[in-house]
Amino acid sequence: MSYPNEVTITEVCPRDGFQSLPDSIPTDEKIEIVNKLIDCNYKQIEITSFVHPKAIPQLKDATEVVQGIKRNNSVKLRALIPNLRGLDRAIVAGVDKVKLMLSASDSHSLNNANSKTFDAMKGFESLVKRASESTVIVSGSISVAFGCPYEGEVPIERLSAICERYIDLGILDLSLADTTGMANPFKVKQVIRVLREKYPQLKFSLHLHNTRGMAFANAVAGLEEGVTDFDSSVAGLGGCPYAPNASGNIASEDLIHGFEEMGINTGVDLDKLINIAKILEGKFPIQSDSFILKAGKCSDLHIAPKEQKKLG
Ligand code: ZN
Repeated sequence: MSYPNEVTITEVCPRDGFQSLPDSIPTDEKIEIVNKLIDCNYKQIEITSFVHPKAIPQLKDATEVVQGIKRNNSVKLRALIPNLRGLDRAIVAGVDKVKLMLSASDSHSLNNANSKTFDAMKGFESLVKRASESTVIVSGSISVAFGCPYEGEVPIERLSAICERYIDLGILDLSLADTTGMANPFKVKQVIRVLREKYPQLKFSLHLHNTRGMAFANAVAGLEEGVTDFDSSVAGLGGCPYAPNASGNIASEDLIHGFEEMGINTGVDLDKLINIAKILEGKFPIQSDSFILKAGKCSDLHIAPKEQKKLG
């Protein structure tokens, strides 16, 4: 079994994490956290979502955050956009990349975007055209790709049809999201193997939620099928809208620590990241969820006890 030497981690806390918090974080605090994250050497950060401020008031300061942070040339800023208005705001704010929102199942799509999956995709054509007149790069996503909380199983044929539509639009960078933590390693391997074989021109990334504790196993399954791009959120910030007390995104420090232990380079400064996670855990103890914050790194050694302890 061989694993890649390096992977790319996209930090999604400023979008996925912040939008799930019950109260808005003051803009300057958000900017401070993002600046700290940039300092960890991430190659990409999902900075915000340009949705209607009434839909997600927690992200109403999207433009101010993008324009307030200290940027450098080595980090790309990606934002989620739901429509043309969102794209226009993202272009004006100055992000590098936008990610289109799309649900794999009609019922999830109706709930999220008020239209069925393929109807929602009809609107993508004008978005792609508008983006092509700017420097912003468009990527796609497929939410609930590994299972829908309303419909259950998402057939591979449906995922294939969505991929084909994205290819028609010229969008070749696709994020497969396990929005509600319904994936398992077998399913991840099966889906990615089929889609990569059918559509070698597509580049898949994985957005894994740890709702049922399977996210790291799913990430490794993705690795084994050739995926080298993953999303995660520092301190595991971000919940699951369908299970109020459940975990959201896999914690960045858990994913990065796990990969680094496997000898896979992420380029992210794990110690700096753990410090940010501790700050966020202190501020939002209910919303954060991370194994590394509880247990520390494998390399954090302990002094052996002088007396023998029988632990059974
Ligand atoms: Zn998410």
